[in-house]
Amino acid sequence: MSASLDKLKAAGLITAAAAARLEPIAERYSIAVPPDMVDAIRHDPAGPIARQYMPDVRELENGSGDRPDPIGDAAHSPVKGIVHRYPNRVLLMPLETCAVYCRFCFRREKVGRDGHGLLPENDLAIALDYIRTHDAVREVILTGGDPLILSERRLRGILEALDGIAHVKIVRVHTRLPVADPARLTDALYACFAACRKPLYVVIHVNHADELNEAADAAFTRLRRSGCILLSQSVLLKDVNDSVEALATLFQALVEHGVKPYYLHHPDLAPGTGHFRLPPETGQRLMRSLRGRISGLAVPTYVLDVPGGHGKVPLTPCHLEKDPAGGYTVIDIHGRIHAYDPGLESQA
Ligand SMILES: *Cc1c(COP(=O)(O)O)cnc(C)c1O
Ligand code: SF4
Repeated sequence: MSASLDKLKAAGLITAAAAARLEPIAERYSIAVPPDMVDAIRHDPAGPIARQYMPDVRELENGSGDRPDPIGDAAHSPVKGIVHRYPNRVLLMPLETCAVYCRFCFRREKVGRDGHGLLPENDLAIALDYIRTHDAVREVILTGGDPLILSERRLRGILEALDGIAHVKIVRVHTRLPVADPARLTDALYACFAACRKPLYVVIHVNHADELNEAADAAFTRLRRSGCILLSQSVLLKDVNDSVEALATLFQALVEHGVKPYYLHHPDLAPGTGHFRLPPETGQRLMRSLRGRISGLAVPTYVLDVPGGHGKVPLTPCHLEKDPAGGYTVIDIHGRIHAYDPGLESQA
């Protein structure tokens, strides 16, 4: 039996029979559930955390729309470890491993597939040189994999290198660690953030309020005290968070924890993730119900990463329409329609 399934069995999360059925999945994709998450799953074996992290035989099903590289990273990768799709910002991927493997991961054909998945030092140097020689790049987004599981030495090296590039004004880190395994955030790592001279935005991947426990809250507080600006990104997932109640609770709780919800992603077409998908209209209906119900600070932008590498577009429903008479109609949060005159005559 694969080591990852053995661990789940030893933790009492799956039976021997289930492990045998899941073996083909373990051979294909990484599986990891950190200790805090094991406790949460024991507590609620069919709940939103279990559903995000526990392997499922449906991952072997191949849907017609599945794509190994759903958001088209490969087409925009000039050198190893860099994805450069928008002129002014790049992704820097120093590793392809995570502390936990989300079953719906959009990069699952790469992330967690090959050993430690660390970008070799010389490739990292080439990637940093790429950033150094492209002065249109104003923002660098560390992602992967989860950059916060890098050793403190390596992370510090990267942040110092970016600090030294004058045209890079903003550093962003995409991570799941503060909710998935906050115990791995060390004093040295917080110190490393505090030493960063450029604005450091940390975007935390979190999908359900059940993930916001005391340890996560403590990690958010320390990140803020280390000078990080905290945002979140979530994925809209069937039977995890596809209700007004779940999303409202999550986003409101995030703001109350000092984290501004940034994006709600429509699920990508990653292979074997069909059981997490839902129609975009569902997301739009949910977004419509959130507005007015939670703080405006708590409402993220609902986005689709256009399959094939064409970038992100908002799917957030539009409340404004032009009417044939030349004015506008707006639809309020209760679905009521109002005429709207933007009052431009005096400028004509
Ligand atoms: C998502 C993404 C970004 C960041 O986009 P924002 O809208 O600025 O958050 C940058 N580069 C690539 C390739 C991306 O996929
Ligand atoms: S944290 Fe992100 S990259 Fe890692 S498994 Fe989850 S979705 Fe994939």
